[in-house]
Amino acid sequence: MLRMAAPEVERELSEEVQEETKTFKELGVTEVLCETCEQLGWKRPTKIQLEAIPIALQGRDIIGLAETGSGKTGAFALPILQTLLETPQRLFALVLTPTRELAFQISEQFEALGSSIGVKSAVIVGGIDMMSQSLALAKKPHIVIATPGRLIDHLENTKGFNLRALKYLVMDEADRILNMDFETEVDKILKVIPRDRKTFLFSATMTKKVQKLQRAALKDPVKCAVSSKYQTVEKLQQYYLFIPSKFKDSYLVYILNELAGNSFMVFCSTCNNTQRVALLLRNLGFTAIPLHGQMNQNKRLGSLNKFKAKSRSILLATDVASRGLDIPHVDVVINFDIPTHSKDYIHRVGRTARAGRSGKSITFVTQYDVELFQRIEHLIGKKLPEFPTQEEEVMILNERVAEAQRFARLELREHGDKKKRPREEDADDAESSLRVRKKVAGGKFRKKIH
Ligand code: AMP
Repeated sequence: MLRMAAPEVERELSEEVQEETKTFKELGVTEVLCETCEQLGWKRPTKIQLEAIPIALQGRDIIGLAETGSGKTGAFALPILQTLLETPQRLFALVLTPTRELAFQISEQFEALGSSIGVKSAVIVGGIDMMSQSLALAKKPHIVIATPGRLIDHLENTKGFNLRALKYLVMDEADRILNMDFETEVDKILKVIPRDRKTFLFSATMTKKVQKLQRAALKDPVKCAVSSKYQTVEKLQQYYLFIPSKFKDSYLVYILNELAGNSFMVFCSTCNNTQRVALLLRNLGFTAIPLHGQMNQNKRLGSLNKFKAKSRSILLATDVASRGLDIPHVDVVINFDIPTHSKDYIHRVGRTARAGRSGKSITFVTQYDVELFQRIEHLIGKKLPEFPTQEEEVMILNERVAEAQRFARLELREHGDKKKRPREEDADDAESSLRVRKKVAGGKFRKKIH
């Protein structure tokens, strides 16, 4: 087996000297919001908050380059809420975001930070009934958090709704909004909101499209960057694991056993593989749950909530879930399939080691992935150590894993057939098909593995 580097454990950097960091109060945040931060356990501002909040409070536009998990939502939400307190107004701010999940999370943070001042927000995203959203908009919330496509639908079709008095526009994860071909929608939105407004543009990466948008939408912005190069957070221990592709499933099971007790996010490249691996793991007795684009919105939120509530310890996800999701307790990210775009690597591993916590990432590299892996190492500017494993112990698992693979394939096929039949229950998570499986295996695999 090809070995790329001797195993070594990355040294954790020493704890940041907290006392040297300014407080929210010293940044100019008003008393009532400082109290809320304290209640949320936000003791000191994060780096991006330190940089962005004072500038935003001066009324300047901001272009923010921040790592995932850096606290950027607080960096734009606190100044907006503070200005809203000073000059109360309905339909005060619009936050554009690329995904539905991210929209809900941003809304949760606005509601949490604004809880003591009665802030109302509305989430306007696809996959949810237009009528109930129209009713929410008719109540004129203070903050609208939206994906661009659905917002345009409402701007064009919902009577009485407009954003002509808007004071703040935030474009979060702008690079991703533009990569998802929302450029036309963003242009349309810019045309129907006041020119005289404040704009905050946040992006993980500074692409040409983002620069173009910056020129079109921002006035003399101040740049706030917590990482100028593509970087991953300091407390993240990153490893790779070079393995033949046919043993990927066994190695995954081995690692999940070795690191049992942690919460995992496992990234796969396709919806089908995500579903397959979820079924395979569940057949072996792990509490795994899938999250991918072929599941409907309710099922996706359901999966996410079960994982957030810690009733499931392994979330299998495609890149739909790789960015923006606020899942604070992920201990380990496993790149089961290597990301084809190396920037996705940064976003995936950004799911762990968030907000000062430590975390691990392990990237599976097969004989087909060497070039992609080298590109990732080049992008992050360092060579990763190999994750230590005992090959013999992995090989012992092969037989049981092969049996679980067969069942998973069967279930996938059954599930495919069901989907073809109309009026069948929509069984697009692994949970429902598992019921069939339990009857077959009695769910005894995990005990044997331990
Ligand atoms: P974000 O990068 O905005 O998605 O934030 C990532 C996580 O950090 C969220 O769970 C926030 O609640 C949390 N967070 C944001 N600001 C702070 C802070 N100053 N101190 C501690 N946690 C924070």
